[in-house]
Amino acid sequence: MRWLRTQIGRHRRRAGMPHLVFDDDGWERLPPKQMAQSLIQLVWAREKVLKANVNPTFTKYVGSAFVKNRLTSMTTGSVPMLNQGLSLIVRARAGAIWWAFKLALTRKIHARYRTACPCCGASEPENLDHVMLRCAKWNDLRVIMLEGWMTDSLTRCLDGVENPTDTIKTILLLGGEHNGRSIRRWPFHWRLEPNAGENPPPGAPECGCLRVAAYLATVIPARAAIIRALRTPVGAAGRADVTNSSESQSSDE
Ligand SMILES: [Zn+2]
Repeated sequence: MRWLRTQIGRHRRRAGMPHLVFDDDGWERLPPKQMAQSLIQLVWAREKVLKANVNPTFTKYVGSAFVKNRLTSMTTGSVPMLNQGLSLIVRARAGAIWWAFKLALTRKIHARYRTACPCCGASEPENLDHVMLRCAKWNDLRVIMLEGWMTDSLTRCLDGVENPTDTIKTILLLGGEHNGRSIRRWPFHWRLEPNAGENPPPGAPECGCLRVAAYLATVIPARAAIIRALRTPVGAAGRADVTNSSESQSSDE
C-alpha cells in the first residue's frame, strides 16, 4: 500500500492513463472490484513502459549471465593490488569505461580515433574487444598475463561455435556465458593450488577473474595516460575529464 500511495499518481501520468478513476487521494475508496481492475491496467502499463526503456547495455549484461559471477566487495573481500582490476571488470561489463572511439564521437579527442586506436595506431576503433584481444600496444602484457590461459579457455568454451565474434570472446573473458558455457575456473578464488600459499603474488593469479583483473589494472591506467595526452584543447566546458569519466566509478555491481 505504501508503494501505491507514493507511486500511483506518477505511474498513472507516465503510463498516459489519466482516464483511470484514480485520484491521488481518492482511489482507495473505490469499490474493490473496480480498484482491482484499474490497478491491473496500471501495473501492465508500467511493465510496458519499463520494458521499452531497457537499454542495450543492460540487455547485454543480463544476456551474458554476468550476474552468476558477480564481483562485489562481499564476494571478493579486499585483494591487495587487484581491487582496481576487479573494479575495472565490473565497469567493463557495464559498459562504463569510455573507450577512445566514444571519446572521439563526443569530441573529447580527435575524430580520427573513431576508427583508429590511439595506443597501437591500428585502423580499428579502440574498444573493449580491441583492448582485450588485439591491441598491439599491450601484446607483451597480454602474453605474460593472459595468452596461454586465454587461448586454451576460449578454445574449450567455443568448441563447435562457428565464427565466434570478438564480443562473445570478451564476454567469456569477463566471466560471462555463451550458449550456457563459461570459462572453467573463472570465478573468484583467492587460491586454487594447494601449495600457492596464503598470499600468492598478484602477478600470478590462479583464477581467470584475477588474471583479467591484473591485466586490466595494468593496461587501463597506462592507456588513460595516452588518452589524456590526446584531449582536444577546446573550451573547458566542452572537455571531459578522461580520468574522471573512466576511472572513478563504483567497484561493486
Ligand atoms: Zn590498439
